[in-house]
Amino acid sequence: MFAVLISTYEMGRQPFALASAAAWLRAAGWDVAPVDAAKERLQEANLVSADLIGFHLPMHTATRLAAPIIATARRLNPSARICVFGLYAPLNADWLRSLGADEVLGGEFEEDLAEVARSMAGERGARSAQRAPSDAFSAGFAGSAFDRRPLPRIHFRLPDRTGLPPLSRYATLQMPDGQRRLVGYTEASRGCLHLCRHCPVVPVYQGQFRVVQPDIVLADVAAQIAAGAEHITFGDPDFFNGPTHAMRIVSAMHEAYPAVSYDVTIKVEHLLRHRDLAPRLADTGCAFVTSAIESVDDRVLALLGKGHTRADFFQTVALCREAGVTLVPTFVAFHPWLTLASYCELLDTIESLDLIEHVSPIQLAIRLLIPRGSGLLAVDEMRPHIGAFDPATLTHPWTHPDPRVDALQRDAMALVGTQLIADRRTLFNQVSALAHERAGVPTPSTRRLRSEQALRLRSGQADGRPARHRATVPYLNEPWYC
Ligand code: SF4
Repeated sequence: MFAVLISTYEMGRQPFALASAAAWLRAAGWDVAPVDAAKERLQEANLVSADLIGFHLPMHTATRLAAPIIATARRLNPSARICVFGLYAPLNADWLRSLGADEVLGGEFEEDLAEVARSMAGERGARSAQRAPSDAFSAGFAGSAFDRRPLPRIHFRLPDRTGLPPLSRYATLQMPDGQRRLVGYTEASRGCLHLCRHCPVVPVYQGQFRVVQPDIVLADVAAQIAAGAEHITFGDPDFFNGPTHAMRIVSAMHEAYPAVSYDVTIKVEHLLRHRDLAPRLADTGCAFVTSAIESVDDRVLALLGKGHTRADFFQTVALCREAGVTLVPTFVAFHPWLTLASYCELLDTIESLDLIEHVSPIQLAIRLLIPRGSGLLAVDEMRPHIGAFDPATLTHPWTHPDPRVDALQRDAMALVGTQLIADRRTLFNQVSALAHERAGVPTPSTRRLRSEQALRLRSGQADGRPARHRATVPYLNEPWYC
């Protein structure tokens, strides 16, 4: 039996889910051809000869990119079993079935995928008699209403990366000294205990998270280091959903590979609650912590259900600086409650906290995305702005009540989207100048420059801006996040 497993976009990372799926299918005796369509050409002959064609759909962009390939696979091979899995599969189950998908699996997909494979091979196990895999994750999904159901607790297999492009073809870690590090990617947990309203994890995991067994995570890390990785990205939605589990893994990794760095994503609430662990992150080689700040406006943070405030963000910046951990904030810069003035305030806050170099420029232009099932659909303050689900974009489109804000978002996106490898400070200054001009207020740098010029004039100094040295921070050179 032959399976083709396809990934379309994983933010510049070697696809963990394909490696995990391949391990389960190979253990069941299948031949597997994993294809990262973002990096290599998909062979039509493989689609035609496959018994099973799997698609990993972890995010919005990946799902949209996969749509024409699913339709092509269905057309070329009407008898193949097409399985879609990952976060965005159950969110878009009906639409994916309309394209030709037979099985819609969720985030914890491995056992169900293996069960599909076993049933296809005529080895139907006891579990398959109890429930059909195609109903496993779609049950309970009806627009934004979900029945909370316990997700499976999988005993994972070591991901099998045979056949995937080498790590050298993926995003690298750009270090402040100009060096680049090869990056591996793994997951120590999936899902999340929290219920942030705008988050696509929530409709699928419904406040649950599941750990990957530490021996599997560490073996996967070791395999990627053997393949050249000098840095590991942990893709857990939040690394501190299970802080003991998380710290056990990075401590063991650091002990075995002290020169290997890593990065993780941790929410503000967790960083503050587990503040004693911040120095341990630094000591174990954490190059940076990504944290979804989203907004610096307390009202907006409350609407999003983020569980932190503007003051918490400020505290987190101080905590990370003190612990020697680089904080990389991400934002939902544009949303229906933004004003021209509050966007300027966001930029001014980033500047005043000396975080310009920490923020990927694309973060300055990101617009709130509302997928099917989003918790925001139930928020009264959202309803006046939102439209019906649009299958073409796989979102509920929304319009800002002030057309000048939507125009600014388009123009900011045009600025950062066409200069993806430009210097962060230069781009920030361009966006900031644009925003302040639209809002009719001077930029902080303009204000500072004016007062510095006034001082120099008063003291009779020659013209010339004081040069301020700013260290850059490490970052992954894949600029897109969604
Ligand atoms: S903490 Fe992060 S992953 Fe968890 S629900 Fe909130 S946004 Fe999603």
